[in-house]
Amino acid sequence: MDNVRVRFAPSPTGYLHIGGLRTALYNYLYAKKNGGQFILRIEDTDRTRFVEGAIENLIDSLKWAGIDYDEGVMVKDGKVVEVGETGPYIQSQRLDIYKKYVDELIEKGYAYYCFCSKERLDKVREEQKIKGMVPKYDGFCRDIPLEEAKKRIEAGEEYVVRLKLPRNKDISFEDAVRGRVTINTDEIDDQVLMKSDGFPTYHMAVVVDDHLMGITHVVRGEEWLPSTPKHVFLYEVLGWAAPTFVHLPTVLNKDRKKLSKRQGDVSVEDFKNKGYLPEGLVNYLALVGWSSEDGEEIFTLDEMVDKFTFERVGKSGGIFDVEKLNWVNAHYIKQYQTEKIAELSMPFMVAEGLMTEEEMKSNWDWYVLLIETVKESLSNLSEVPEKVRFLFGDLNITEEEAKEELAGEQVPDLIKAFEDELSSIEEVDQEFANGVMKKIQKSTGIKGKQLFMPIRAAISGNVHGPELKNIIYLLGKEQLLKRLDEAKAFRK
Ligand code: GLU
Repeated sequence: MDNVRVRFAPSPTGYLHIGGLRTALYNYLYAKKNGGQFILRIEDTDRTRFVEGAIENLIDSLKWAGIDYDEGVMVKDGKVVEVGETGPYIQSQRLDIYKKYVDELIEKGYAYYCFCSKERLDKVREEQKIKGMVPKYDGFCRDIPLEEAKKRIEAGEEYVVRLKLPRNKDISFEDAVRGRVTINTDEIDDQVLMKSDGFPTYHMAVVVDDHLMGITHVVRGEEWLPSTPKHVFLYEVLGWAAPTFVHLPTVLNKDRKKLSKRQGDVSVEDFKNKGYLPEGLVNYLALVGWSSEDGEEIFTLDEMVDKFTFERVGKSGGIFDVEKLNWVNAHYIKQYQTEKIAELSMPFMVAEGLMTEEEMKSNWDWYVLLIETVKESLSNLSEVPEKVRFLFGDLNITEEEAKEELAGEQVPDLIKAFEDELSSIEEVDQEFANGVMKKIQKSTGIKGKQLFMPIRAAISGNVHGPELKNIIYLLGKEQLLKRLDEAKAFRK
């Protein structure tokens, strides 16, 4: 096979959609598996959608996710730069290249100038709708002789350039996921190739760029499948070999609708800000629309490279399931070093006002133990504050079960014994925390559930939760005494 070259070609809309990250990931996996190159190209020909800082944001998101690439647009020393031999990689810098090929198409009779005003096009569309037809350009300017068109342009008339598709012709291509796809040109519009502002449309630019950049496999979302016949026609009339097309199933929500920004989290940044780990999000996204042959679901990027094939990409939409994402992410949280999870969770603690950065840093070992105590129960880092909140502030008993535990007959003895143990020490250290329950058992003769449940309820406010010895250590002498005292209020 030729040297594999693939590309991810996002438009700089201001954020990277997780469906986009999945497309980037599949491109990356395919390039790595085949020893090929992966290129990042920026498709910014729609000037109305331009957003400041969007390129940097896209690159940051890919970097965070650990998806690297060989060529194209990168950020070095805080500046956007382009790396590679087939650039520029930002479409707005390639306008003269597109113009050359648009001119060639016009000369060969595969494209034509169109002078229709917006008003006329709107009217045509309205009439077609009334007649129940699919709105489509009616070909009004298709047969204007080229000389006449050129004169009108010289005279200052506004124009666009349209593709002159042959009428009633089947266009077919092989898609690596969908198999053979055939569409008749009567169902396709005479696509605008160049707009009145001199910018190409996506369709013109994508074909020129994929060809000139030596792209062998076009791996993209299936929303582009209906456009592909136009691209295939362009390849043909420009005398170029078309790449292999690979259209990926759309990422859907549970209602099988497209995952849209209006419904909540869709950008990579949203998930980063929720405290998902890059390994978790990427591993999960690999599974949205693809499955490994052996049924494994947890894998490193290298293992994914090893297992990935287009044959195992599904035809129907991939459902984005947050619960499954949580399950995958929880796996990676458990695998990470606790110190690292502690570090990454700091902003969430600050945002919830539980601790300042300074407090965490100056009580680092304490903070790491705090995280260790809840780590196993986390599916993302934004859950840290709610999981540790019971250790901050006053004892807050809302659970009925906890109240019942504290009403037990033996509870005053337990509280007294705990208070005695505490008054015999300066401060709670690990040794004390590990051994105090045994001592209370000894001095009171109370054991098992009768012992553990009320003490847990008294100091944590809950009947379930993390290890008691950790809670005791984390609270410290003063807090323990305070809470034991507060717990007395639930006596019967
Ligand atoms: N710019 C297009 C997008 O953002 C890329 C489509 C393609 O990969 O051809 O979806």
